[in-house]
This record gives sequence, C-alpha cells and structure tokens, in this order.
Amino acid sequence: MEVTTNETILLELPQGSKDTVLVKNLYLSCDPFMRGLMLEMSESHYMEAFVPGSVIRGFGVSRILESGHPDFKEGEYVWGIAGWEEYSLITDTEKIFKIPFTDVPLSYYTGLLGLAGFTAYVGFNEICSPKEGEYVFISAASGAVGQLVGQLAKLKGCYVVGTAGSDDKVELLKTKFGFDDAFNYKEEKSLRAALRRCFPKGIDIYFENVGGAMLDAVLLNMRDKGRISACGMISQYNLEKLEGVHFLVRVITKQLTMKGFNVADYFDLYPKFLELILPYIKSGEITYLEDKAEGIENAPAALVGLFTGKNIGKQLVIVAEE
Ligand code: NDP
Repeated sequence: MEVTTNETILLELPQGSKDTVLVKNLYLSCDPFMRGLMLEMSESHYMEAFVPGSVIRGFGVSRILESGHPDFKEGEYVWGIAGWEEYSLITDTEKIFKIPFTDVPLSYYTGLLGLAGFTAYVGFNEICSPKEGEYVFISAASGAVGQLVGQLAKLKGCYVVGTAGSDDKVELLKTKFGFDDAFNYKEEKSLRAALRRCFPKGIDIYFENVGGAMLDAVLLNMRDKGRISACGMISQYNLEKLEGVHFLVRVITKQLTMKGFNVADYFDLYPKFLELILPYIKSGEITYLEDKAEGIENAPAALVGLFTGKNIGKQLVIVAEE
C-alpha cells in the first residue's frame, strides 16, 4: 500500500512475517491506567511499562491493511492494543480482537464497547450483584466508565447518585444519563455531609473510581454489609506519596465487602457483555458521550487532560477517518 505524505512510503508486511498484521490506526483511547505505565516499575500485568523513545501503546481501533495471520483478513476492523502512531505492525495479535458488529459507531470500541464499557459491566453487574431498590454511588461518574455504570444501575432499578468535578458534568449526569441526583465534589465543604444529604439511609454499593478523601467519606456513609467495587483511584495516580485512608476500620465494623478487580482477567465475559449492551444501544436506552480530540498530535494533551477533568465523557483521539 502506498501512503503519500511529504514523501511516498511503501507500507507492507516485511517478507516472511508470519502471524503479524499491518494496521491503520483510526481511534486511540486515552485511559488513566496509562499513567501507571510511565512509572519504571509498572504494576500492570497486562502491559509493559513505556520505554522512553519508543512508541506509546494503549487501546485503540484499527483497520487491517495486510495480514500474515490466518485469523485476520485485509479490511477487517479490530480493537485492542494499538500503538500511538498512524500505522502499526502488530505481532502480539492475542491482544487485538475482531470487531464483530459494525452497525454502531466504530469509535465505541475505544469506550462503550471497549475497555471502559466492559469495565463498567464487570465492576458493577458481575462484582456488585446489584438488586432493585439499592442505593448506588459512583465517583468520576461522567467519565468513560462512570456514565455507563450509572445507566446500568438505573436499568437494575437502583437509586443512583454520581459525583463529578464541574456543574456542567453534574447537569449531564441528571439530564443525559438519568442519575437520580448528583453533586460537584469540588464545591462541597464536606464530602461526608454531601453524601449524607444524598443518602440519608446510607449507600449499598459504591463504585470507586477516585480513592483518597472520597473513599474516606464513602466509608462513613456505607450501610452495613454494603459492597465497594474498587475499580480505580485516579486521585492517587499522580502523587509521589499516596494519601492514607483514615476510616478503613469501617470495612470491619460495617461488615463491608470491598473487591478490587482487573478487567483483563474477565475477558471470557465479553460476549455476555455484548449480548446485554447492544440491544440497549440500538434502542437508545443506553447513551454514551465521547470527547473526541482530532489528530494524533493532540493525543498527549488529551491523555494529560484526564487528570484535571478536562474530558467530558470518554476521551478518545481521531487519528484517521474510517
Ligand atoms: P474518566 O473518563 O472518568 O476520566 C478521568 C476522570 O477522573 C476525569 O475526567 C476527572 O473527572 C476525574 N479525576 C481526575 N483527577 C481526579 C482527582 N484528583 N480527584 C477526583 N477525580 C478526578 O476515566 P475512566 O472512566 O476511563 O476511568 C475511571 C476509573 O476506572 C479510573 O480510576 C481508572 O483507572 C479505572 N479503570 C479500572 C479498570 C480496571 O480493570 N480495574 C479498567 C479501566 C479503568 P471530574 O471532572 O469528575 O473530576
């Protein structure tokens, strides 16, 4: 394949590249876990730490240009690990997945139908086993994971409150995503009091995306035998010294269950997730907000923006149109 930029480059699979595919990257996903890959001692078991001077890797959506792998054909779309570059040679093909349904926006495979959406499903439906009428609280609620957790909770008949870092995001939670209530955590004098106001009877399920002071305030407001799905703690990712949690003892006194998870360990549930979610997307019962940065040159700023709440909805980068 010929690509014309300032000069003409011939893109092709090197001779004898068995089990390798050449792809054109279309969309890149900006994910908070990528911050951890910038540490020399990354704790990710799924992806290796970034190497300075090498291409950054994250999740994305790509089109196969040429395939030396029997399972992939030219023209097919895949989602999974992609390089932050326009074209990639992929050798670890066990980390890319064929896109089975293309009658939804392909960009959804960076979020709603990709890592974030699947995380919401695993962390809420599978880990929390929610029941109708339960009281659910979600932090970073307007983001890629949180906005879907809220909608899944509403579909289960729960009472759902979310928090986010701006009044506009709070408004979105209530009007677009159907949350029963929401508050701007940056405007509250006391998080503990805000949660008490929203949940006079206490919280049954907390979907944890943030950690730090928010977790402390939640622990004080949990109901006995409540469940906490520990999905992420973004408030800690940029700190050199992690904040302490002061009220962890409440896990014992209130007999709480707190479970952390890595969604990469649950990929066998992905078909079950698709079966549940696709009809809701097609009927419009589930909606999804994306924040699209245009051009690979804007990818670094988009990634950094996650840590100041610049994104409104799922942050992705458009590298090329399909
Ligand atoms: P988001 O789309 O929610 O983007 C991150 C958001 O976090 C920002 O928009 C901001 O929203 C909020 N935020 C940033 N810094 C802080 C802070 N210091 N205190 C409070 N809030 C902050 O990201 P995702 O939905 O993709 O990810 C949500 C969480 O899920 C992350 O913690 C991530 O690590 C985790 N995750 C876990 C997985 C797993 O397997 N366990 C897999 C995928 C994600 P605001 O304006 O509201 O502050």
